[in-house]
Amino acid sequence: MAEWPYTTAKWRRLRKAKLTRDPLCEYCPPGVVTPATQVDHRIAINDGGDPWAWANLVSACASCHSRKTSHVEVHRRPRVPLHGCDESGRPLDPAHEWHEENRSELASEDRRRSEHLS
Ligand SMILES: [Zn+2]
Repeated sequence: MAEWPYTTAKWRRLRKAKLTRDPLCEYCPPGVVTPATQVDHRIAINDGGDPWAWANLVSACASCHSRKTSHVEVHRRPRVPLHGCDESGRPLDPAHEWHEENRSELASEDRRRSEHLS
C-alpha cells in the first residue's frame, strides 16, 4: 500500500489526527482493546471511497487491517477485465462473451474429454 494518497504529507497528517482521536482498533470486537497502528478506509478508494473523508476512516490494528485487506482481495472480482487468452485460445476473463457463445461447444468437448478419461 505505497500508493496515493498514502505517500502524501496530507495523508500522514490525517492519519495521525485519526489515530490521536481514535487510538484503539475499531474492528476488534467490543471489550478487546488493541491499539490501532493503521488507518483504513471503510470504503476502499478503489471502490470510490473518499480518501479524505473523516467518516470513511477507521482506526485498525495490524492484524484486523491485513485480515480486511485480504478479505477484500479474495472476494472481490477484478474490476478491470482480464485481457488475453490461455494456451488454447480461450479468453482468460470468465465474463468474456466468448464463453457465452461457446458454452455448449465447450460442454460437449468436456464430455468427450471425460469419456476419454474413464
Ligand atoms: Zn483489531
